[in-house]
Amino acid sequence: MTFLSNIQLFINNEWHSSAKGKTIPIFNPATGDKICEVEEADKADVDVAVEAARAAMKRGSAWRRMDVSGRGRLLHKLAELLERDRTLLATMESMDSGKPFLQSFFIDLEGSIKTLRYYAGWADKIHGKTMPVDDNFMCFTKHEPVGVCGAIIPWNFPLLMFTWKIAPALCCGNTVVIKPSELTPLTALHVGALIKEAGFPPGVVNIVPGFGPTSGAAIASHMGIDKVAFTGSVEVGQLIKEAAAKSNLKRVTLELGGKNPCIVFGDSDLQLAVQEAQKGAFYNQGQCCTAASRVFVEERVYDEFVRLSVESAKKIVAGDPMDPRTSHGPQINQQQFEKILDLVESGKREGAKLECGGHALQDKGLFIQPTIFSDVKDHMRLAKEEIFGPVQCIMKFKSQEEVIERANSTHYGLAAAVFTRSVDRAMSVSSALEAGTVWVNCYNALHAQAPFGGYKMSGNGRELGEYALAEYTEVKAVTIKLSEQLTL
Ligand code: NAD
Repeated sequence: MTFLSNIQLFINNEWHSSAKGKTIPIFNPATGDKICEVEEADKADVDVAVEAARAAMKRGSAWRRMDVSGRGRLLHKLAELLERDRTLLATMESMDSGKPFLQSFFIDLEGSIKTLRYYAGWADKIHGKTMPVDDNFMCFTKHEPVGVCGAIIPWNFPLLMFTWKIAPALCCGNTVVIKPSELTPLTALHVGALIKEAGFPPGVVNIVPGFGPTSGAAIASHMGIDKVAFTGSVEVGQLIKEAAAKSNLKRVTLELGGKNPCIVFGDSDLQLAVQEAQKGAFYNQGQCCTAASRVFVEERVYDEFVRLSVESAKKIVAGDPMDPRTSHGPQINQQQFEKILDLVESGKREGAKLECGGHALQDKGLFIQPTIFSDVKDHMRLAKEEIFGPVQCIMKFKSQEEVIERANSTHYGLAAAVFTRSVDRAMSVSSALEAGTVWVNCYNALHAQAPFGGYKMSGNGRELGEYALAEYTEVKAVTIKLSEQLTL
């Protein structure tokens, strides 16, 4: 593959071989074919990357001296380069992750470019406050960069998560050491080349693809990293928090899983609810932390909702991600594929009603049919565990109070949705739901301007929007003794 020229570690704006000379084979999940081998970063490589990021953060460095508007210009330039290479990046993303090409092009690339542009705009608008204090003092705050920010990202939205991490970090003046998933490092590495082309000084962004227990753990426990941002599983999130606590107490933000409730009231626009709930369940083959995997439907429209959902699921076209007619690709790897099918079997055993799907697609590697279970009960594994696959679980409810109680009875709290034509009901239910994001009459509506993150075990901190800036800045209070008290 000639377009895959960036397969080494990106440190200090240069391409490096890994210290141990090891590589990671990268596979296309739609075909099982090996795409290429990428250099594998280990602890020693993370050390070199952190050294580069620290040097770029040093007082007097080109990055520290850069005008705030200059930082904004570089982020805008990077966004332009992503636009220029949009088809190439979307192709890489689809080959690497199995996403249908049109989704990579219109959703992942669009979201990544908008995220860069949004934070480019913030670069010269990050400022503190002055506050009146007692006696003869003047007090003001400055919002300063935290320092070297580590980032560990997953395989379900490789490029989007890359930009969600680097854009707010860079606009606040930090430097970054980022580890893409070992399964999907290709777009991140290509963007490494674009970061250099855009003109970011060496060491500002360093990219170290590698495995979790080696390079990921090295980032989490590194004494030279001041903050780590992670997206992935709860189990690994816990390990990262522990490693951060036991090393230098670095700041940690976590974006973990969800078991997101989608509540459909009898007064909703049912066609819309079916369509959006299905988008929530099947988008990206269900490999979304926001997946709508518990759909609660009010008794009086339940049968109709199930009928329409099955009708719609049967129209989904699975197949080659590069074919524009395809809207459903393969799962990311054998392990996830087996985990999902095991949960499907548990549903059958525990007495949920299989309405459609429920199997792997014959002769097609890691493809799973869009699957719908109705009559799912709260105690079933399907209703409790994160599936991360194309499985919609439909459950019946009678009253508003009952459904709120059931929707909230999970350790997760990432996202939720409410479908109703009543503004009053939309307001009271969205207030009662324990989730960082609540969608009303829509699903997966994410915007660079709006904060995203979880309650409870779905995570700590917020990404996106103005809220993310607080995660990437330290607040310094400067107090000046004056010879006389200021008059107000
Ligand atoms: P994971 O949490 O193991 O991996 C996510 C990232 O963390 C990867 O970059 C990985 O290399 C890294 N990592 C793994 N172990 C690490 C460690 N000990 N220290 C530091 N970093 C480490 O997720 P997975 O194995 O790819 O998927 C397993 C499950 O996680 C999925 O079934 C799903 O439930 C969940 N998941 C959630 C998201 C999300 O967007 N919230 C994304 C991917 C996976």
